[in-house]
Amino acid sequence: MTSHRLALVWLRRDLRLADNPALAYALANAGQILPVFIHSPQDEGTWAPGAASNWWLHHSLTALESQLLDRGSRMIVRRGAALSVLPQLVRESGATLVTWNRLYEPAIVARDAAIKTRLAQNDIDVESHNAALLFEPWTIRNGQQLPYRVFTPFWRSALTQIDRLPAPQPAPRRLATTSNKLDSLTIADLALLPDIHWDEGIAQHWEPGEAGAHRQLERFAKAASDYAHARDRPDLTGTSSLSPHLHFGEIGPRQIFARLHLQAASSNSLATYAKELGWREFAHHLLFHFPHTTDKPLDTRFEHWQWGRSKSLLRAWQRGMTGYPLVDAGMRELWHRGWMHNRVRMIAASFLTKNLQIHWLQGARWFWDTLVDADLASNTLGWQWTAGCGADAAPYYRIFNPVLQAEKFDPQRAYIRQWLPELATLPDKWIHRPWEAPDDLLSRAGIVLGKTYPRPVIDLRQSRDDALTAYQVMKQSSDSP
Ligand code: FAD
Repeated sequence: MTSHRLALVWLRRDLRLADNPALAYALANAGQILPVFIHSPQDEGTWAPGAASNWWLHHSLTALESQLLDRGSRMIVRRGAALSVLPQLVRESGATLVTWNRLYEPAIVARDAAIKTRLAQNDIDVESHNAALLFEPWTIRNGQQLPYRVFTPFWRSALTQIDRLPAPQPAPRRLATTSNKLDSLTIADLALLPDIHWDEGIAQHWEPGEAGAHRQLERFAKAASDYAHARDRPDLTGTSSLSPHLHFGEIGPRQIFARLHLQAASSNSLATYAKELGWREFAHHLLFHFPHTTDKPLDTRFEHWQWGRSKSLLRAWQRGMTGYPLVDAGMRELWHRGWMHNRVRMIAASFLTKNLQIHWLQGARWFWDTLVDADLASNTLGWQWTAGCGADAAPYYRIFNPVLQAEKFDPQRAYIRQWLPELATLPDKWIHRPWEAPDDLLSRAGIVLGKTYPRPVIDLRQSRDDALTAYQVMKQSSDSP
């Protein structure tokens, strides 16, 4: 027995049909449904999605629209502040039920609460659900009923609830959709794609949409048993590359857990993979409980840190022109693919915040604009962790050395060669530290340092010592009464 004639399903970052509880609830409780997407970047405050995210969103919406059409439905697309557009759509359509899946960014939490209140005042039923996480941020607390700040006990506590996860639901076959002739923009009207075509590399690498997410999961399933060994190697395809699909909700973590049987993970690789998904959960937990950390350090001792302000150093880092090949390879991978391997993200972020002493927010903003998986929870955690000012942060004295890291994690230098073709013919011994290479080798490889490839923008040892001294001073002044 359905209690509503029409339910409006507000699609946000849950761009899938399977295991979409807001959609399932609407179908179970209304005779007809109306899927709606509202483009409202202004609702996200100072963290409105960047250019690479917009690229992904365009293609993900296009994929979803065609899935909806295949099932006899359609998607209404509007733009503007959701606080006014959604109630307007409810009035126009005559819907009496609105459903959505929850998000956890501070600006969105506040907006959704205001919308819920407004709709309730007009006697509209609102039902929100969890599609994005295994455990919502308020469901995991420590012994004092406080949020966790350290990952290991957080994940240990989460794992005690893992058997209670609901099984993922299949996609509905047909969607009984209202025949209302409501006005809709097209996805192209949202102008999400770039005017200048910098997106070719991104388009070659990714297949946005629910089908693309599942194909990627199946590819990874075949290689998952090697994850523990391969995940730290940027020269291998050792990780799942599911992060943008997860961010846009084209696939949910419950589905990944079920497909890879992660609840019962017995192998080291599967347990390690489950733990990485745990970091994503932890990132959301922190963002929800410490919402100010998007812009301010969790560790307040860092509030008065004297960050460097060199625009030219920042620019060299952004363009992959620091003279440190592993850092530059990562930054060029980011520009080309809209994604960077996790280990190289840590190395590039450590180099920016520790060697160059540039504010982690500058790095976070660049990643925000260029990553297809840009995610406020995970990006904030990643940057604060690396800069040493966040929860469970890397200790301040952990400053990644890009030369040693290349020797360890890019043993044949294949990753550096892939992204820095101008260095490709240098032998393995020198390619990750070309400034030390003998002159004759450089000239045989056609390399003129300072011309065809930059000289190092900073001295590694000196900048490391300077950072350690500054941390020591901060530590002493915060320890003193
Ligand atoms: P896999 O190794 O296959 O991991 C599976 C999934 O687990 C990922 O898809 C991701 O959802 C999650 N995950 C893995 N590692 C982490 C982590 N350290 N923190 C949170 N979740 C994790 N990840 C983002 O999704 N968006 C970001 O904006 C982002 N910014 C980052 C910034 C910095 C400075 C650093 C150091 C890390 C950042 N990460 C971010 C985390 C991590 O680098 C990516 O999630 C990972 O590289 C995605 O590739 P994958 O899907 O192949 O990962």
